[in-house]
Amino acid sequence: MHCKHCGSGVEPNASFCPKCGTRLPDIINPNTNMQPKVGCLAQLIYAVIIFIFICVALAIIALALPWMLLIGFAVIGLTMFIFFFS
Ligand SMILES: [Zn+2]
Repeated sequence: MHCKHCGSGVEPNASFCPKCGTRLPDIINPNTNMQPKVGCLAQLIYAVIIFIFICVALAIIALALPWMLLIGFAVIGLTMFIFFFS
């Protein structure tokens, strides 16, 4: 990494040029501005994946719920049947 102002070699983590004292985030900014775009895209993909998972989970629950209610009522009916006939 080199200073934009004087062109001397600067450490990558340095925030100021040791020779001329120019602030260096001006050089780092183009890279940091590109990273959020990738992050946003990744977040969007994650959001879409999570949304699909939620949709699938809701579909499974919606399909399974009548059966679960049916099984629940059957179990309750069976226990009531056993309770009344014991
Ligand atoms: Zn400099």
